[in-house]
Amino acid sequence: MKEEKLFIGSHVSLAAPSYFAGCVEEAVSYGANTFIFYTGAPQNTTRKPTSELNIDEGKKLCLEHGIDLSKVVVHAPYVINGANVTKPEMRSFAKDTIVSELRRTNDFGVCILVLHPGAHVGAGAETAIKQLAEVLNEVFDSDGTNVKIALETMAGKGSEIGSSFEQIAQIIALSRHPDRLGVCLDTCHMNDAGYDVFDIDALLEEFDRVVGIKRILCVHINDSKNVRGANKDRHENIGYGEIGFNQLYRFVHYPLLDGIPKILETPYINGHAPYKIEIEMLKSGHYIDGWKSQFENDN
Ligand code: FE
Ligand code: FE
Ligand code: ZN
Repeated sequence: MKEEKLFIGSHVSLAAPSYFAGCVEEAVSYGANTFIFYTGAPQNTTRKPTSELNIDEGKKLCLEHGIDLSKVVVHAPYVINGANVTKPEMRSFAKDTIVSELRRTNDFGVCILVLHPGAHVGAGAETAIKQLAEVLNEVFDSDGTNVKIALETMAGKGSEIGSSFEQIAQIIALSRHPDRLGVCLDTCHMNDAGYDVFDIDALLEEFDRVVGIKRILCVHINDSKNVRGANKDRHENIGYGEIGFNQLYRFVHYPLLDGIPKILETPYINGHAPYKIEIEMLKSGHYIDGWKSQFENDN
């Protein structure tokens, strides 16, 4: 049997009534063989117990459709800021929430949790990085799972940390559980942070030198509305932004990234998910000029 090397999917939503089974069905409807989901709302930490999320049914569907759960990814809510040294209550909230997210991720049989490193909110990156590393040490001391955290490379908007490979490397260097840490590259974020995403060889060489290529657990494939170095973080549909289809296609099929899940987080168009066609184009290499118009004209 030919070994599958390309794992590509998108964000899907965990919604009533079918929850996890619905995530899998949504992914399959896009022609995807992986996906990313939040185990509740992205912007808050209110969560339903995982026992109510139809996990067994979802796992059964994964088996039926050949979806390998080791390539599926959970995204932690983005309100967590373990790097905030200015508010002690944020620190303990972040710790408790990350522990809970790791356990929830484990309940789904998923082994990768993507986490935004956070923001220093004026205190400076150095102390923020130290605190985040210590929070993660305490998290890994107590969560009781083997789920890995993939620190996402950020665009550098506001006082975000983790927008340089060096900062990601510092977080890992301060860890007592470095085996539990990896990285999620985001093409839009790297572009917006100032990296040259048009030279993947050089980009990944630099990443390998600073962090280590083996740390990459996931790649977010997004076009960017903004030019290199804009520090914005506005995702654009594939082919409509500053990175463009050809370069995003290269990321998806780049040999060094074989086997690593590639996940789209591009915007909806007029309430329609763009993922089926975006995934199809990124698989085949055949770009359809003006593809978005089919969504824009229907109302
Ligand atoms: Fe993210
Ligand atoms: Fe992302
Ligand atoms: Zn983003």
